Amino acid sequence: MASIPLRDGDLRWVFPHLGEVESVLDVLNTATALVARLAAHLGDPDGGLGFDHLPGAPYAGLAGVARTEELAFELHLSVPCDTRGRAGRPPPWLVDGEISIRCDAISDCGRHELETLESECGTPAEAAGGVLSVAGWLLSRATTVPRTGWRERDVLSRHR
Ligand SMILES: [Zn+2]
Repeated sequence: MASIPLRDGDLRWVFPHLGEVESVLDVLNTATALVARLAAHLGDPDGGLGFDHLPGAPYAGLAGVARTEELAFELHLSVPCDTRGRAGRPPPWLVDGEISIRCDAISDCGRHELETLESECGTPAEAAGGVLSVAGWLLSRATTVPRTGWRERDVLSRHR
């Protein structure tokens, strides 16, 4: 799935009936700057925030990610879906953040979730605010917890 920078995409992929584009875009640009700082802090040249857009699709969410070899700091804004997974249904938008670490067990299970945040947002302004607050949370966790401190928080470390 291609990540498309905010300036190259269309906010109406995420918010089909968006009236005030500027104010929502302002908030999302600030969130983008925070994810860029997070990526710089972690030394991830590929990190950033953008649309997770499938070519030709009328809808897209937003995804922000910054990684080290072990750690991943991610945020997602998902467009409203109905129970069958069809996008474009009424709100809420779902905003979530996750910090995870690579599995260190002999039978590798992939990744271990360390911390998560999740919120439901009823309006585009709320959803953009949600993205900004998750981006701020990820940056503050990344700069507060020492890089080596995350494995100590991993309750699944070296599991069987
Ligand atoms: Zn594991």
